[in-house]
Amino acid sequence: MRELSRFHGGIHPAEHKLESSEAPSRRAPLPARLILPLHQHIGNGARVEVQVGARVLKGQLLASAQGTISAPIHAPTSGTVIAIEPHAVPHPSALSGLCIHLVPDGEDRWIAHSPLDYRALPKAELLDRLRDAGIVGLGGAAFPTHVKYRLTPGQRIQTLVINGAECEPWITTDDRLMRERAAEIVGGIEVLRHLVEPAEGLVGIEDNKPQAIAAMRAACAGSDIEVVVVPTLYPSGGEKQLIKILTGKEVPSGGRPTNIGVACSNVATAYAIQRYVGHGEPLLTRLVTVTGHVRTPQNIEVLIGTPLEDLVRLAEPLPGVTGYVIGGPMMGQHVSTLQAPVVKATNCIIVKSAQLFPPPAPVMPCIRCARCAQVCPADLQPQELHWFAKARDFGKTQEYDLFDCIECGACAYVCPSHIPLVQYYRFAKSEIWQREQEQQAAEIARERHEYRLFRLEREKQEKAERLAQKEKAAVTAKAATPAPASAPAAAGADLDDTLQMRIDAAVARAKEQAAAAQPKNIDTLTPQQQAEVAAVEARRAKFTELASSSGADDEPPKQ
Ligand code: SF4
Ligand code: SF4
Repeated sequence: MRELSRFHGGIHPAEHKLESSEAPSRRAPLPARLILPLHQHIGNGARVEVQVGARVLKGQLLASAQGTISAPIHAPTSGTVIAIEPHAVPHPSALSGLCIHLVPDGEDRWIAHSPLDYRALPKAELLDRLRDAGIVGLGGAAFPTHVKYRLTPGQRIQTLVINGAECEPWITTDDRLMRERAAEIVGGIEVLRHLVEPAEGLVGIEDNKPQAIAAMRAACAGSDIEVVVVPTLYPSGGEKQLIKILTGKEVPSGGRPTNIGVACSNVATAYAIQRYVGHGEPLLTRLVTVTGHVRTPQNIEVLIGTPLEDLVRLAEPLPGVTGYVIGGPMMGQHVSTLQAPVVKATNCIIVKSAQLFPPPAPVMPCIRCARCAQVCPADLQPQELHWFAKARDFGKTQEYDLFDCIECGACAYVCPSHIPLVQYYRFAKSEIWQREQEQQAAEIARERHEYRLFRLEREKQEKAERLAQKEKAAVTAKAATPAPASAPAAAGADLDDTLQMRIDAAVARAKEQAAAAQPKNIDTLTPQQQAEVAAVEARRAKFTELASSSGADDEPPKQ
């Protein structure tokens, strides 16, 4: 039997799982309209590949991945693109994002698609296919899967951890998925095992899900995958926490699991991978728990892009709704209205009532009781982080490892002064990111400016050199012309010397000016700027060659 470790802290909030976990999941009907944000994952938003008015098929690419860390978006059903415009998205900033608006035609007609013989493909190509299928981590973070499993040369994965802990109260999507589709989850795990060839494959499930444990054990029978039951303790489903429980290894501060030879994915991600390799389906649907103040709490399989309002209606909200939580009560986002759609990361929506979610108690000053530090799974000092974030001393928050905070909310849950601690940490993080972005933008602008000055000065110098050469050629030509008989023999030589000195002085001046305008360190230019420099150099060389062979004019080519 595997020996388990434990992480620091943790809490036992009321679970509220049974409300939604016992009913079989169901499929949502086609909505009247789908709203597909271009930014549903960590990394760059997707690039639109369709135009307004386009008729698209189910599974057709609507927006492609942009850059290394990105994921594409596909049409969840057939229909017509009626707009590409901003719309409310489920994001804590409450800002809207650019979305593709699709009106289904009701026919649900698929684009050509087929299963994939993934074992016959080179691994790099399989990863490209997973990227093209839009697969991202479905445990909440929405990190593109193809990036997570693209190992660097020499990198080895000892343990593949599949996360079925689902520790957050109210949420039961992974529980239902494991009960109902265990074989397909195992199919997806096999794809991941094929990719990274780990020495061991572990599925961690909290002990409050006995049916899911049984279903997964039955599906894993005969394979090398081990289903490990872990004690119910929030937040054991955190990636770092589950890795610690199962392997005893600590992911280093600021590091990734792959740094310690571990790769980790959610059970829903494994299921999405199997839908792709087994059926050729890109990521178009997901399971969402709809629970709280509703008549029929349940799990619903829904098309990505379905308005949350439509989804909630299916569970029949009761009178007295006071708001909603998108995600779980510990880490989710509290909103008063439902305008956003379901995105790839949406796993739960809780309908609030005054009874289930009483108004927060008044905030009191910190009494330095240290309860927050006792429960923090990242072993941080939440009260100090709060203090520095409040004082806007962001340097200190970083010294106290702010970025190791997983925003689990355990500290705020136990705080007797009811301080909304996580809000302070989110604020501090966003301020630091904002400042870094501004600094980066200023740095790029400075480098561009310096490079421009350098280019202008170099052009000036080159022009001066060409003029000097021209002048010299003219003098040489003149000297070669026989002098008039009356002129003294030494006059030509004197003139030559004087002119040569003037030419040399002009060339030296031009060189000095160019040297003064040189950026302090050309090597610090961005790759794009270096490429620009190289392109300019190449054009100049070509022009010089052209000029010397054709006797072209002295004007440099336009840049
Ligand atoms: S739990 Fe609350 S009151 Fe106690 S030290 Fe932490 S922030 Fe202060
Ligand atoms: S929210 Fe951050 S600081 Fe608070 S307990 Fe969780 S990890 Fe620790």
